[in-house]
Amino acid sequence: MADIELRGLTKRFGKMVAVNDVDLDVEAGEVMCLLGPSGCGKTTTLRMIAGLEWASAGDIMIGGRRVNDLPPKKRDIAMVFQFYALYPSLTVAENLAFPLHAEKASPEDIKRRVAHIAKLLELDHALDRVPGRLAEGEKQRVAVGRAIIRDPTCFLFDEPLSRLDIALRQEMRSQIKTLLTGLKRATVIVTHDQIEALTIGNRIAVMRDGFIEQVATPHDIFASPANVFVAGFIGTPQMNLLAAARLPDTKGRLTLNVLEQPLVLDIATANRTLPPPGQVITLGIRPRAFEPMSEAGADTLGGTIDVIEPLGAETLVHLTAGGEDLRVVLARGSGLRPRSALRLRPIVSQVHLFDGEGRRIEP
Ligand code: ATP
Repeated sequence: MADIELRGLTKRFGKMVAVNDVDLDVEAGEVMCLLGPSGCGKTTTLRMIAGLEWASAGDIMIGGRRVNDLPPKKRDIAMVFQFYALYPSLTVAENLAFPLHAEKASPEDIKRRVAHIAKLLELDHALDRVPGRLAEGEKQRVAVGRAIIRDPTCFLFDEPLSRLDIALRQEMRSQIKTLLTGLKRATVIVTHDQIEALTIGNRIAVMRDGFIEQVATPHDIFASPANVFVAGFIGTPQMNLLAAARLPDTKGRLTLNVLEQPLVLDIATANRTLPPPGQVITLGIRPRAFEPMSEAGADTLGGTIDVIEPLGAETLVHLTAGGEDLRVVLARGSGLRPRSALRLRPIVSQVHLFDGEGRRIEP
């Protein structure tokens, strides 16, 4: 039994369905990130788990108990909106202890729990200092400590790192993952930042228009996106999603008309469920899944370079091919010039295929 179980969870605001028939399990020790574009229903899902919104339909189970009718206080959760705002006149120890006063913990209990959290977050040396005398990273660790010092069944975080500057965010991501996994509690984090979800989450639930499109590990979401939406949403620069028509096979290999060019992919079509020739397929190729080629071949695509953007060690190249834009990332110093022709071979092991409805075609 998972610590958080959502079954058919639905939220309507008037006629608008903000969360639509969502099923999700979050295990103890698991960090689940809800990821998706603005308005997809992630915050509403989190608020229903917390009890800040009533569900229109479905069940919310926490620790095996149906909590739909319980107020937030009785749900055994800790909800954190952002890691910031410490009390400036209180010491680190007093800041950490603050949430425990509300639950009327004994002084001995408070002391023990503050010491435990301080050790976990490497704040033991700073317990008597006020926030003004802390480094920025230490302040954030106190804020995290204050969020997790209560010992609920689950933690709910809403964009916890969104107010931090980039350097601190990067530092906090890996710390938070280690910390939350070690706490052995179910954690749900809402974020619209895919890097945050990919680094902190043990699993990611990608949402769109109130639905969950895919729940999987960061690796699987990236390597095997369930549909074109997830494929286009995860990964930067964005995956190229190219409309292709299936042509008759070339020696049993999948052959497509894409970007107004024939392309033979070294994918055996026998024993595969593929749309028949003539049908539309979406070919997904990430910008880093191309090799530049010096000569044309049946397994290559050609285009004309429009824009070259240096990315440091790599270069992002925008090409026009068959009237469409193609994004390709190549090693720096590849001798590229605008308006020159470039031939590329898709790396077949990294090619994704989607059917006419946009669903992944499994290899
Ligand atoms: P964001 O990242 O922008 O916060 P989100 O994915 O968290 O987006 P929600 O805040 O859950 O999305 O909103 C989902 C949909 O429900 C949106 O269309 C939003 O406008 C709508 N919505 C949210 N709260 C209410 C409300 N109290 N009344 C009416 N509509 C609402």
